[in-house]
Formats: sequence, structure tokens, C-alpha cells
Amino acid sequence: MKSKEVRFETEVIHSGYSSERFEGSLTPPLFQTSTFTFDTAEQGERRFAGVEDGYIYSRLGNPTVKMLEERIAVIEKGEAALAFSSGMAAVSAIVVALTKTGDHILCSQGIYGCTFGFLQLLKEKYEISHDFSLMNSKEVLEDAILPNTTCIYIETPINPTMKLVDLQMVAEVARQKGIPVVVDNTFCSPYLQQPLLHGCDVVIHSATKYICGHGDVIAGLAIGNQDFIKRVAMTTQKDIGGIISPFDAWLLLRGLKTLPVRMDRHCDNANRLYSFLKNHPKVEDLHFPGDEGHPDYSIMKKQMKRPGGLISFSIKGTKETAQAFMNKLNLIKIAVSLGDAETLIQHPATMTHAVVPNEERERMGIHDTLLRLSVGLEAWEDIQADIEQALEKI
Ligand SMILES: *Cc1c(COP(=O)(O)O)cnc(C)c1O
Repeated sequence: MKSKEVRFETEVIHSGYSSERFEGSLTPPLFQTSTFTFDTAEQGERRFAGVEDGYIYSRLGNPTVKMLEERIAVIEKGEAALAFSSGMAAVSAIVVALTKTGDHILCSQGIYGCTFGFLQLLKEKYEISHDFSLMNSKEVLEDAILPNTTCIYIETPINPTMKLVDLQMVAEVARQKGIPVVVDNTFCSPYLQQPLLHGCDVVIHSATKYICGHGDVIAGLAIGNQDFIKRVAMTTQKDIGGIISPFDAWLLLRGLKTLPVRMDRHCDNANRLYSFLKNHPKVEDLHFPGDEGHPDYSIMKKQMKRPGGLISFSIKGTKETAQAFMNKLNLIKIAVSLGDAETLIQHPATMTHAVVPNEERERMGIHDTLLRLSVGLEAWEDIQADIEQALEKI
């Protein structure tokens, strides 16, 4: 299947797989095997020497995993991809591949809690430092780049405050200085945002979220150019070992087929709920990039297909009021993670961002009353009714 000739909605279903090669099986087969046999000792020698293509051992490659990697490379518009056992396995493998002792990483003003934890570990154990930058103009970004900066690491939208970073602007500044730009694209999925098309170098996903879409897999992905991905495959992935299981890769291939359909529904529902929350007297401090008054609305228009399925908002009152509201919800589940069919709500200050020091958290705009809603695929009327009855009770 030459995927270049078809549209995104077709690519997510067909790219990276050809049924002729597998007895006509409509769906990709699951190669649930740890190792692969060689016909002869010499063939084994050739495979290990890299002079003959073919599988050796599933930590080094597996046909089902490869189908997923080919599909995600096509839909993220990259040359190659790698699948990992978790989003954090992808984050750590990529960051370690781009840094050595003495280097500096420049991050967007907010990053995922465990990514923050990992950077902290790199600083304490390996003297790889990091800073945060608003990256809201060329000047701000240029000032924040140090002579030893070897990686720019971005999340956009930033969790949970939904601030956006202009990917094209960052990529232009970084290219002049020869610094690779890594984007954690988990919140958008490739359906809403394709950072490589804006000049960024590497995309990471926690595939646990929208890409899986069904809340039953923990997995990660990284996409980039052939040379870089190959280097990661043969170093930080192979030797640290955070590879995905063939079954999980198979589930992701399955989930990906409905990504565009699911994302449109997540976005439709989020738009409806945002209008409702915005007008509710007990709600304040809303963050949703789909609002025309959002400070980064023009960036959203430029680089995102739609504003996404996540809304953050505060309940008027205290931390206890916010928690009481959560406890009154019935349909909406209290859980971290996002991108599932079920609508989920979480309290960043005590959950996803609990590891971030208080002062840093306040600076990121994560107050004690802030909640993050991952809008699911249920009827929006039912989600709204649940929020409404819970708000009435506090
Ligand atoms: C969940 C998440 C991660 C970590 O992914 P896991 O699959 O849980 O390891 C990284 N970045 C973002 C933005 C996430 O939401």
C-alpha cells in the first residue's frame, strides 16, 4: 500500500500492512514470539552481522511491532518510528540519546510530571541540567538557549493549563543553532497536530492515551528521521530494553483505525461542554484552546486541526470544594490518564503534578482548585448532566 497516495483516515487503517503477505488475513497477525529460528548457523551469523535482513529476537524487532512502527511513521509524517513499553520509556530513551553529562535541556513551561521527575534524575545523577522557558517569542527562546543546550523539549498544549507553544517558531530558532526539537504530541495525537511538518525533529507519544483510545494498553512511540531512529533502536532502546509487547502493538494497530472518528467526537463533545462550563457561576479560570479569547488561539489555528478533547477549569472555592465536586460525580470517573472512551477527571495538584514542587506548580498556573477533564465519547448531554448535578450539590 503506497500510503503517500491516500488521506489520513485511510492511512490509519491500511498503512504498514499488506494482507497478501499473510495468507490474506484482513487484520494484522499477532506474532506472539520471543525469538526467531535461523535456517542455518551461517544465516544466524549473517543476521547478527546485519548483512541479511530478518528477525533475531523480539527485543530487537518483531513483525507485529514493525507494522505499528510503519503505520505511526506514515501518519506522523516521519521517516521511521519506534514503539516502547510506555510513554516514559520513549521519553527516557529519546532524551538519553540526545544528551551526555554537561549538556542542557530547554523545556516548555510545563511538562508531564514523570518527565519532570526523569529530568530531575538526570540532573542529580549525570549533571545534565534543564530549564523551563515560556517560549512565547523568538527573543525569549533565544535568551533561554545556552551554549550547552543539546535538546529543546516541548509539550503543546501544556498540561493542564492548555498554553500553546508555536512549533514553527521554535523549530526555526532551533535549526539556526543546530539543536534538535522534541515534541511530546500525546495531547493532540497525529490527527490534530503533526509537529514534523512544522520543522520539529522528533515526536513522542504516550500511546496509552488517544492512540490506544480504549484504556487497556500502556505504550509509547517515537517518530523521527531514519538515522536517528535507527541509532535509538540500536542503543537506548535495545540496551535499556523498554520495548512494547507484540500483543500491545496489535491492540494499538486496532485502536489506530478509529483515531480520526474518535478524535472528532472527543472534540465535538469538548466544544459543547466548554460552552456549558464557561457560563456556569460556580466555575472559573477555564483553559481550552478552542476559546476565541484564549491567548494562544491564533497558534491553535495555525498548528492544530481542532482544539482537542481536554478542558481544565477551577471550581470556585478551595481544594476541598474541588474534591467534593469530584466525589459527587457519577458517570465521570476519577482517574488520571486521558483519551479514553470514558470521561475522566483528575486533580493535577495532588495527582499528575504532585511531584512538582509547590512553588514551581504555582508558577505553572496549577492551583489547588484546578481540575482537568478528559472528555470521553459518551453522549455530551449525559456528561453535562453529571457535571450539572455535581455542581448543584457543592
Ligand atoms: C501519560 C503521558 C506520558 C507518559 O506516558 P506513559 O504511557 O504513562 O508512560 C508522557 N507525556 C504525556 C503528555 C502524558 O500524558
